[in-house]
Order: sequence, then structure tokens, then C-alpha cells
Amino acid sequence: MSQPIIYLNGAFLPADQAQVPVLDRGFIFGDGLYEVIPAYGGHLFRLDPHLARLENSLAAARIDNPHSRTDWAHLLEETVRRNHDGTGDSAVYMQVTRGVARRDHGFPADTPPTVFIMCNPLSPLSASVQAEGVDAITLEDIRWQYCHIKAIALLPNILLRQTALDEGAAEAILVRDGLITEGAASNVFMVNGGQITTPPTGPHLLSGVTRELVIELARNHALICHETDFDASALHQADEIWLTSSTREILPVTHLDGRSVGSARPGPVWQRLYRLYQDYKQHLRRTGLPPV
Ligand code: PLP
Repeated sequence: MSQPIIYLNGAFLPADQAQVPVLDRGFIFGDGLYEVIPAYGGHLFRLDPHLARLENSLAAARIDNPHSRTDWAHLLEETVRRNHDGTGDSAVYMQVTRGVARRDHGFPADTPPTVFIMCNPLSPLSASVQAEGVDAITLEDIRWQYCHIKAIALLPNILLRQTALDEGAAEAILVRDGLITEGAASNVFMVNGGQITTPPTGPHLLSGVTRELVIELARNHALICHETDFDASALHQADEIWLTSSTREILPVTHLDGRSVGSARPGPVWQRLYRLYQDYKQHLRRTGLPPV
């Protein structure tokens, strides 16, 4: 089987030849940031918002950004090009760590960051998920106070997601001080009486690029979308619940904590947004540009 091609610190290499030293602070401390960017038909999706978020994460972690936006775009496009079969969709994973240094909590001096990019195939939502939706459970948000930083240290998110999987659910929806924040790896939306609500951005959730696009598409098509806090009991009474992320797009939740959400089928507002989202992707695939 041919090896995927990895970008690592200035070189494109087959995956089995790409190696990071054990003293890399990503390995030792989880001291790094990441992004996941879909590419449809080889074209990167919402690149600027992803690079802007990476810049914010790097600045918050006090790691110098090793590349300009133009250089990042070139490296990401080249990684897609070297892996892409010309028709499919892919997800580009990019990671920057504080680099390789003797283990010490304080920042090392004069240490270049480690830059790693890979590209994996991306599948659309299955027909059964589109027809039936998925289950989710609510759990206490056990994470830290800087959830707006897209940090590679994801142990709490992993534990939360696994608890959901162990209970036969696809995602954990998190509750902090009684309010819904987001999913373990997704943002949360609910629909009531045709109106959409999602929690506002802030330190307790990641400002999802998919979330932003869903809000934009909704508002451009005369749907009302509030960015307002809500609690778990409001979520339990919602007509529809969706989870958004770069890899799962807009995922309808039809059972929450073992109870039906609305009709227990993906709802009409989800159908509308999902179609708009697919149209957006298709335009990008066909033309390489977002719709105007
Ligand atoms: N929230 C968390 C904690 C995430 O990990 C993710 C994506 O991985 C999201 C939200 C959704 O972000 P995006 O839409 O940019 O993929």
C-alpha cells in the first residue's frame, strides 16, 4: 500500500519515514496547537478562518507562528495535492508544537516549533445517520478555562467522548455551571419553534468554523439564529439538536440522554441547513471558490 505523504519541518515524506524526537514538547507535555481543515475536491474549506483561529491559539500559547498565511496555504495545498486522488474529499490535520527541548515546564529558549501536516480521507454523513440521526448524552464539562484555544492536549475531551461511546452515544454534550457549552469535539445547536440557538463564543467553547458557517447560512436564508446561553433542561425540550464540526458537518441528534428529541428524526430545519451546507461544498468542489 502506498504511504500517505506527511509534511514535517520543511520536508514532504512518506508517513513511515516521518519521525518526531521523543523530547518534542507535544509528546512530553501536549504543548501544542492544531487545526483540522476539510478539502472538498482538493479545495481547502474556509481556510482564512482556520488560519485566523490557529493564529489566535498560537498567540494564546505564546508560540511564534512559524509561517505567514501565504506559506501555510501553500504547505496545506501541497499536502492535499500529494495525497489527493483528484475526486475525493479529505481532512487536513496540522499541528504546531513548542519544539524539542530538555524536559522543563518553562519555555525553552531559541527552539523552533515542530510543524506537522497530514491529510486523511473524509467521508460524508452515512445515509443511515442522515435518516436516523445519532444519540448524545449530557455530561459535566470537566475541561479547563481556555476551551477557545485549539490545544492538542485533549485528554478530558477523549474521556468525555469515550464515556458517550461506552453508552452507545455518538457525542457528549457538555454542561458547565448548568449551561450547555459544546460537544466533546463539536459545537451544539438547538431549534425551537423554527428558531435556532447556539451558545455564544467565549472561553468555555471553541469558536467552530463550521458553527460560523452554519450561522451565516441560516441568516442569509432568513432563518433566525440566536447566539444565547441555554441550560440542559432547555436542550431536553428542543425540537431539534445538531452538532457541528469540520469532519461531521451538521449532525442531527435524535435522542438525548435516552429520550427522543422532537419527532426522533432529523428535523425540517436540519434538512434545510444540511442542504445549504451541501450546496456550499459542491460549489467549492466544482469551482474552487466559496459561493458569493
Ligand atoms: N468544539 C470542539 C471542542 C472541537 O474539538 C471541535 C472540532 O474538532 C469543534 C468544536 C468544532 O470546530 P470546527 O467546526 O472548526 O471543526
